Parts: sequence; C-alpha cells; structure tokens
Amino acid sequence: MTEHNRAVVFHGTGTMKVDTLDFPKLEMPDGRKAPHGVILKIVATNICGSDLHIYRGSFPVPDGMVMGHEMTGQVVEVGSDVEFLKEGDIVSVPFNVACGRCRNCRAGRTEVCETTNPEKSCAAYGFNLGDFQGGQADYLFVPYADFQLLRFPDRDQAMDEILDLAVLSDILPTAFHGLMEAGVGPGSTVYLAGAGPVGRCGAAAARLWVHRASSSVTTTRSVSSWCARLAARRST
Ligand SMILES: [Zn+2]
Ligand SMILES: [Zn+2]
Repeated sequence: MTEHNRAVVFHGTGTMKVDTLDFPKLEMPDGRKAPHGVILKIVATNICGSDLHIYRGSFPVPDGMVMGHEMTGQVVEVGSDVEFLKEGDIVSVPFNVACGRCRNCRAGRTEVCETTNPEKSCAAYGFNLGDFQGGQADYLFVPYADFQLLRFPDRDQAMDEILDLAVLSDILPTAFHGLMEAGVGPGSTVYLAGAGPVGRCGAAAARLWVHRASSSVTTTRSVSSWCARLAARRST
C-alpha cells in the first residue's frame, strides 16, 4: 500500500497541521502485532467539541497526535484473525478503543476497557488515552475489529446516507446511551441541561421517546429554543 496518509496533527496548543504520515500498520501502539485489526480508509469524520478542548490546551495530548475519534470508513486491509469483516465493508467506529474480552467489555462497559491502555482503564482514538492515533486522516488502524466495528449491511445504501451515518460515531449515540443509562422509558420525564451538541442530540433522542412512549421532555431555555428552530426549519 503506497498511498499517502494525510492527517490533521496536533503540534502544541493552538496549532494543528495537515501532515503526510506513513500508511498505518496492523500494530498496537506498543509495537505488538495486531492480526485482530483492520485498516480503514476514512469516508467521513467529524470535528468534536473534545477536539476543541485539545486545540485550546485544556485536554493535553502528545505533540504529533493525529486528531479525531468520530470515524466512518471503508475496510481496505484485514488482519488474519478477523472473521466477520472483509475489504470494501463500510463501518462505523466507536470513539473508545475496547478489547471485547476483559471483564468490563463483557459487561458492556467498553469505556473502561481494562486492557487497551496500560496507564488507565480507558482508551480512545486521538486522545492522550493509550496512544491510538485518531481518524481525521486518510487511513486509520482499528484493533479488535470484529468487536469494535459496526458494519453497515448494505454498502450502497450506506454510501447514499453517509453524512447521516457519520453521526453514529459519537455525539448522537453518546446522548442516546445517556438516556438509556438514566433508565428513560415509557412515561419518563426527561430534564436536559445544556445546549451543546450532546444536549441537542439528547433532546432529539428524548423526543423520539415522547412519540413512542408518552414521555415528557423538559429542557433548559437554550435547548428548547434550538428544538423550536429545528422544528420550524423542518416544517418549511
Ligand atoms: Zn466526539
Ligand atoms: Zn476490554
């Protein structure tokens, strides 16, 4: 594979550059071989509020870190131990790196995987959490690919809706999962404070419950006004 791998790279607080890097290997950050991994060609990725925290210096990462943790990509290289993915598959990547094998992963707590970061029980792409390079790049290495990746069953359909599907990689599922963790169900009253991206997606997800389950949603004024503007745009 000889393609260039252009990537958005952190070079100290307030400085990001597009650098040309080597094509990634099926290799963990500590150099161990990773036949359980794949290489993705990134099809769509997002800039997150977390990236802005890194840019402004409030969340330190190493100089040279490739940014990005919200990726949708096409499989272009498959490790020998990968069983359920093949070249050409379109997949969504979760922002946490998780092994799928430790006690926490088996309990569904992939955000506190015990094995993928030797320094603490949490690993992620494009953060100071296990040295996994991010995906604001042409190519990305993803370990434990059978466990990690959400494969879209119909490639053409996925590409038709790729910008919507790109939302699945962090913000919307973070908000939706938060509602699930909070035990939202039929008849719930939901209070959302904060009108950042997660709060807005939380309001949208909670309103799905309103229609499905007669719940009620209470939001701070800024979330409410955003929802009203969105509803007005949709009705025109
Ligand atoms: Zn994010
Ligand atoms: Zn794990």
